[in-house]
Amino acid sequence: MPESVVDLASLNPAQREAVLCTEGPLLVLAGAGSGKTRVLTHRIAHMIGDEGVRPWQVLAITFTNKAAAEMRERLGTLLPGGTRGMWVCTFHAMGVRILREDAELLGYRPNFSIYDDDDSKRLVKAIMADLDIDPKQFPLNMVRSKISAAKNALVSPEEMAGQASDPPTEKAARVYAELERRLLRANAMDFDDLLVNTLALFERHPEVLARYQDRFLQISVDEYQDTNHVQYKITNLLAQKHQNLMVVGDDDQSIYSWRGADIQNILDFEHDYPAAKVVKLQQNYRSTGHILAAANAVVANNSKRKPKRLFTEEGQGEPIHAYQASDERDEGRWIAAECEKLHTQGTSYNDMAVFYRTNAQSRVLEDMFLRAGVPYKIAGGTRFFDRAEIRDVMAYLKLVVNPADDVSALRVVNVPRRGIGATSVKKIQAYAARNGLSFFEAAQACVAEAGLLSPKVRNALAAWTSGILEARAYDGELSRVVEMIIEKSGILTALEAESTVEAASRAENIKEFLLIASEFAEDHDDVAATLESLAQLREAGALDANEAQEAEELGLLEEPPAQDPDEVGQLSFFSDLDVPAPVVPKEAAAVEPVASAMLPAFMEWLALRSDLDSLSGQTSAVTMMTIHSAKGLEFPVVFVAGLEEGLFPNLTYDADPAKLEEERRLAYVAITRARQRLYLTYAATRRTYGSTQANPRSRFVNEIPESDIRLVGVGSAGFGGTGWEKRGDRRGTYGSGQGSDMYGGAVFGSRTRSTGGSVAARPASAVRKDEKKAAETFQAGDRVSHKTFGAGVVLAAEGDVIEVRFSKSGQTKKLMKGFAPIVKI
Ligand code: ATP
Ligand code: MG
Repeated sequence: MPESVVDLASLNPAQREAVLCTEGPLLVLAGAGSGKTRVLTHRIAHMIGDEGVRPWQVLAITFTNKAAAEMRERLGTLLPGGTRGMWVCTFHAMGVRILREDAELLGYRPNFSIYDDDDSKRLVKAIMADLDIDPKQFPLNMVRSKISAAKNALVSPEEMAGQASDPPTEKAARVYAELERRLLRANAMDFDDLLVNTLALFERHPEVLARYQDRFLQISVDEYQDTNHVQYKITNLLAQKHQNLMVVGDDDQSIYSWRGADIQNILDFEHDYPAAKVVKLQQNYRSTGHILAAANAVVANNSKRKPKRLFTEEGQGEPIHAYQASDERDEGRWIAAECEKLHTQGTSYNDMAVFYRTNAQSRVLEDMFLRAGVPYKIAGGTRFFDRAEIRDVMAYLKLVVNPADDVSALRVVNVPRRGIGATSVKKIQAYAARNGLSFFEAAQACVAEAGLLSPKVRNALAAWTSGILEARAYDGELSRVVEMIIEKSGILTALEAESTVEAASRAENIKEFLLIASEFAEDHDDVAATLESLAQLREAGALDANEAQEAEELGLLEEPPAQDPDEVGQLSFFSDLDVPAPVVPKEAAAVEPVASAMLPAFMEWLALRSDLDSLSGQTSAVTMMTIHSAKGLEFPVVFVAGLEEGLFPNLTYDADPAKLEEERRLAYVAITRARQRLYLTYAATRRTYGSTQANPRSRFVNEIPESDIRLVGVGSAGFGGTGWEKRGDRRGTYGSGQGSDMYGGAVFGSRTRSTGGSVAARPASAVRKDEKKAAETFQAGDRVSHKTFGAGVVLAAEGDVIEVRFSKSGQTKKLMKGFAPIVKI
């Protein structure tokens, strides 16, 4: 073996061959976890450490910023001399660097701005308004995606106009032309421009291209199967001179065709570079045997692929665990409980990940993790309650409860767009300041008084204020109030009119929110009972100063930071009690009546959830993400949720065989992220947007050989006949997957053993109901784990109170059902 800075012995022969091959084009084509990325980094280390290549002569391109950062770090450890001058980045980041140097040649100034998605959306919107293109008829995002597709296919506005055969495309072409003019005038580029302009620069200015061609002696591209046309062309131009291009990929992991990625790029590499050396890697170092067998078996069902098979020397490991949930809530609950269990057994939360096919699935998962007190983070995405559209609806509801909430008023006065522009808003604000009114009151006054605002704005404002007042006057069901706001505000209608994938998913989130409100209402009896018994406990002296402090430490009684005006004026859950109210009911208390009686409680509950949310802000957390964003990553423990036909494969729109194959590749990506443990879960019924669906288990689960998978639990209302149970597999032995309600409380413990009796004063019906539930989940003698207090033993379960003695502190605490960081172990 040659001398090397790289530990060549740590590579298998095929990997070594690829690492040592640094002349000419090289294709590493191999399945997941076979060390492609590892080969790529070791090869760079080898050429720099052993062959005298300078870091600045090296260009390494990856798919995400996260992957680039990881690669740079790995290279840093491999190369004692450092990576200074080396370009390790995404295609977009590379584009920015190149254009900063020479954008002047394309008519930009070097300090050009980069418009992010939001900026460019606003610009397109403005252009459409100026061109009198009705966004109702031609939704903004549809226009934008047409323009983006044209840009990435290198179609100019003129060509697009020439080819357009339908009105939407014609309109988009007009907007496209104007967009190009305005971007240039604003000295700005959007994300597509970063790629397209780089290519244009290279094509129109050979001297610039030559500079980079000379500089980059060695070019490597990871995840090559997901490059699109423009990226493909840029790569080829850059590599033309030295021909030292290494591309790495796996045709089985091509999952971005919907964004223009072309799997053909990798399949054609040998054609593009006839001198290319091709290395195939067959040993998987990531996953244990059962997991790999499952991945191989699933992807083998695709017809359009280069056949390959991976093997592992890791041993069989554990079979894949399947859990058949009764519904999506049971699924989330079970996953959370399983994470908690693994955690108590010593696995770090950081080593666990939950994947889902669609973003909408994360809501219930988040909900259940919050209730179970299992810390989580959402990778590459926003947590449900942080999403803009959800915050918009919540701002409306806050305004209904508290019309003096100016922050919420300003947030939504023009959401969705109703022509109340910045100038009008300023006028209303000035009026409010002059007369000592809130923004909402000022808006009402401006509606009543002619001449302050244009008739158009006045009308829009009148509709806005009256919608809110109407919701405020309504004192019926909670979900109806939420529905009213969603209707009156026009939020949902506006999103639906966009008819794009993105808007559709935002609309879905809003419908999910409505569902949360109905669920809250359904649970409200329990909530009321909890509050009531809290009052009892307090009267009985069970809730002393210490506990109040404890509760505060847990963030549950905390007053919100004064500088967060978002929260001011919410009614408190605890306002009846003699404990410090978490949020002072400023305005709402003064104005009567306040909407549905349950709305303030609901808002409070939501606020409480975000407190719990920040409780979870620990360093170690379970990662939740879509399968798309999990590409290239690996975790010791992986859960894939929602394996049902229709959801995954996600084939609601049509049954195009090519789409099914892409879904299957996605399943392959998901399965192959797991190192030691893989869980697949599916639900007998799933409630989405108010309607309940019952879909069969995903074909991808069925494609896994029986010997590699085991059913480990069935939710209480599960559907029978899976085939596996008959083989005598364990059932329902894991976690709390019995479809029962989660218990919790966390907060109101007691330092003295006592007061079980205080609950007896509660209405008999509530007690009976709760006793039934308590008996279902906790009994005296159960060992439990509490997120904050650690392990303990249940001494008594009575009503909605369980009494637990915690081993660490030796203290006995009474825990109440509610938002439960407690699980059985
Ligand atoms: P993906 O297709 O998912 O991107 P990949 O082919 O890029 O996977 P890597 O991420 O490079 O695979 O490697 C997978 C895992 O296997 C990593 O943890 C890596 O360190 C390990 N690995 C790769 N090759 C070897 C080897 N020869 N010896 C030991 N471990 C290895
Ligand atoms: Mg990789």
